[in-house]
Amino acid sequence: MIILKSPEEIEKMRIANQIVARALKTLKEMVKPGMTTEELDRAAEEIILAAGARPSFKGYRGFPASLCASINSEVVHGIPGKRRLKEGDIISLDLGTEYEGYYGDAAITVAVGKVSPEANRLMDVTRESLYKGIEQAKEGKHLSDISHAIQAHAEAAGFSVVTDFVGHGIGTKPHEDPQVPNYGPKGVGPILKSGMVLAIEPMINAGTHYVEVLDDDWTVVTRDGKLSAHFEHSIAITRNGADVLSELVAY
Ligand code: MG
Repeated sequence: MIILKSPEEIEKMRIANQIVARALKTLKEMVKPGMTTEELDRAAEEIILAAGARPSFKGYRGFPASLCASINSEVVHGIPGKRRLKEGDIISLDLGTEYEGYYGDAAITVAVGKVSPEANRLMDVTRESLYKGIEQAKEGKHLSDISHAIQAHAEAAGFSVVTDFVGHGIGTKPHEDPQVPNYGPKGVGPILKSGMVLAIEPMINAGTHYVEVLDDDWTVVTRDGKLSAHFEHSIAITRNGADVLSELVAY
């Protein structure tokens, strides 16, 4: 069942998501060769706690950290640790918060120093795919119009869409109905309505779309070892189109 949110609830979710957005901006500025993903995790947790929120990934189904840090061929759910970033790596930073009972969730992929043209193109196309999906997030459209727009843009660029993991509704739980796939035909699935809040999160691979989970039971990697990128926004559907709750507002 898709739970519609009131304007007051959406404002709480905006706060949760703005805390995520501010933390991601700080992490993006911190990322440099030689640092560990553990340092990024610690910084993220400090920012979230200082803002009066809770890092919602920590402890979720036993996940041990506040941040998901996924490097190069890692797609999502990478566990922060002692691994040091190297010049030329790309890293997906995925972060969630809970603020007064409401959840925020967003992700970016960033370059570590100078990266290859292919890595830059993959990141650009993945971010663009997210915004192509957000453009379709309007009252009266079908859910799969979002999915289709993401897939069409990524595949037109020669990349592949991860199908084993999808976006989701979000609200008083970190994952709610509906699932939001990043692929599919247009014009099917639920009709979008004001008050729906969705976390849209394309995971786009440079090579095959097949993925595997490592022995740590968390880290998802591409089967062919090629690069993967991931961008995510939490958006509310309103009468005036998508309200991107996790887009950083100047403050
Ligand atoms: Mg998510």
